Amino acid sequence: MAEKLNCGFLHSLLYPVRCPYCNKLIERHEYACKDCLRDIPENGIEQGVLGGYRCCSPLPYTGNFKKAMLRFKLGGKRRYAKRFAPLLYKQIKESYEDTVFDYITFVPMHKVNIRQRGFNQSELLALELSNLMKIPYFKVIEKDKMTHAQHGLKLDQRRTNLKGAFKVIDKQKIDGRSILLLDDIITTGSTLGECAKTLQKAKPSYICCVTLLSVANLY
Ligand SMILES: [Zn+2]
Repeated sequence: MAEKLNCGFLHSLLYPVRCPYCNKLIERHEYACKDCLRDIPENGIEQGVLGGYRCCSPLPYTGNFKKAMLRFKLGGKRRYAKRFAPLLYKQIKESYEDTVFDYITFVPMHKVNIRQRGFNQSELLALELSNLMKIPYFKVIEKDKMTHAQHGLKLDQRRTNLKGAFKVIDKQKIDGRSILLLDDIITTGSTLGECAKTLQKAKPSYICCVTLLSVANLY
């Protein structure tokens, strides 16, 4: 027992865990420091996605939450996925209560963009969330059209930009299934809407969306 405690102590000295939002030291089992936890909206953010789908998100796309996402996506902080996933899990339990999902899928990136970044941040989140929810995650759609970055485009341009960008790659896995569709951020909902529309072609029983951050101005 004493040995175990010592190992844990040593491990935390060598590999300290930090709050992804403000960089303060936190305990291994925590996902944010007490100050940042206080800034997390109690009920999360819920909004509709093009096509009538629901989307829930635990965090607003503001301040330290936004900066943490940028470090995660562009600053090589892949390990943040482990700290973000419990927030997604909590939000899903609150927003979708007793809904049973067969699996998680995520908004895919074009292979050229994956090559540049080295990973798909939404896939990393899907992997960590799948461990917590104890359901699998699968890639069932792919992005086979290069598109312009969505930010800076007007709403109608966003929709045209993404039109036909995604393609079903595993029809059988979608047919009749209840699917949780995950992305990192929701802005106008065009990307999730287009992905849901693509999934819908293969006749799932149900689609709900979840993102870590939401741009919705609810404050
Ligand atoms: Zn913090």
